[in-house]
Amino acid sequence: MTKTALVTGASAGIGEETARKLQSLGYTVYGAARRTDRLQKLAGEGIRPLAMDVTDDASMTAGIETIIAETGRIDVLVNNAGYGSYGAIEDVPIDEARRQFEVNMFGLGRLVQLVLPQMRARKSGTIVNVSSMGGKLHTPLGGWYHATKFAVEGFSDALRMEVAPFGINVVVIEPGGIRTEWAGIAADHLEETARGSAYAPQITAVAKTMRSEAIAKRQSPPSVIADAIGKAVTARRPRTRYAIGFTAKPLI
Ligand code: NDP
Repeated sequence: MTKTALVTGASAGIGEETARKLQSLGYTVYGAARRTDRLQKLAGEGIRPLAMDVTDDASMTAGIETIIAETGRIDVLVNNAGYGSYGAIEDVPIDEARRQFEVNMFGLGRLVQLVLPQMRARKSGTIVNVSSMGGKLHTPLGGWYHATKFAVEGFSDALRMEVAPFGINVVVIEPGGIRTEWAGIAADHLEETARGSAYAPQITAVAKTMRSEAIAKRQSPPSVIADAIGKAVTARRPRTRYAIGFTAKPLI
C-alpha cells in the first residue's frame, strides 16, 4: 500500500521542494498552505493540494480528515510552515508575537495531536518538525522567532520520548541560510517595526544584511533540506536532528 505524507508550507521554498522529494520516494503527498493558487504547480505534478491555515483549528482538522478519508493513513507529517517575525523584542506588537507562536509552534503542535492516534494504531510513522539553526543559536532582533524555534526543539525532544514506544520517529530539521522567500519576509517584518524605534539603526543594518546579495550567495537551495528530510523518512533509525546550511555570524 502506498504511504501518505503531509507537508505544510508547501506553497513555497523548503515545503515545495520537500513535497516533490517525498513524491519521488513513492509517497502519496498532500501539500498544504493558505495560498492554494501557489499549490497549482505541484498539483500539476500529482501532489494533492490542501487548503490549510495552521492558525485555524477547523482548517487543520478538516485537512487531516480529508487525508484519512482518501488514503486511510498519514505515515509522514512534515511540520514546515513558518515565518520569522523579526524586530526588537520591545517593539514587536504582542499580538504579532502571539501570532508568531500560533504559526511556528501551536500549529505544529496541533497537527501532531491530530496525526498521532492513527500513527499509534499502526505502530509506525515519522513526524518531521522544521526548526532552525535559530532554535539553537540566537541573534538580536530575532528574539520572538528564536523563542518559537527553541520551543519547537524542546517540544520535539519530549515528543520523541513519548511516542518511541509506539514505533513513531520524531526528527528535527535545523536549516541554516536557505534561499527561499523567508529572509525577505523576515526583513519586511523587521522594517515594519523601525518607525520611531530606539533600535532603528540596528534594524536598518540587519534588514540590509538580510536582503544583501552576499547573504543570498551563501544560502543553499531548498533541495538540500528536502534531501535531508528524504533521508530522515527512509532511514530505519533516523538521526534525531539534521542541521544543514550556513550559520550567519551575529548580524549586529
Ligand atoms: P517560505 O517563506 O519560502 O515558505 C513558508 C511557507 O510557510 C509557505 O508555504 C507559507 O504558505 C507557509 N505558511 C506561513 N504561514 C502559514 C500559515 N499560517 N498557515 C499555513 N502555512 C503557512 O520559507 P521557507 O521555505 O524558508 O521556510 C520553511 C520553514 O523553514 C519555516 O518554518 C522556517 O522558519 C524554516 N527555516 C527557514 C530558513 C531559511 O533560511 N529559509 C532557515 C531556518 C529555518 P502560505 O503563505 O501559502 O500559507
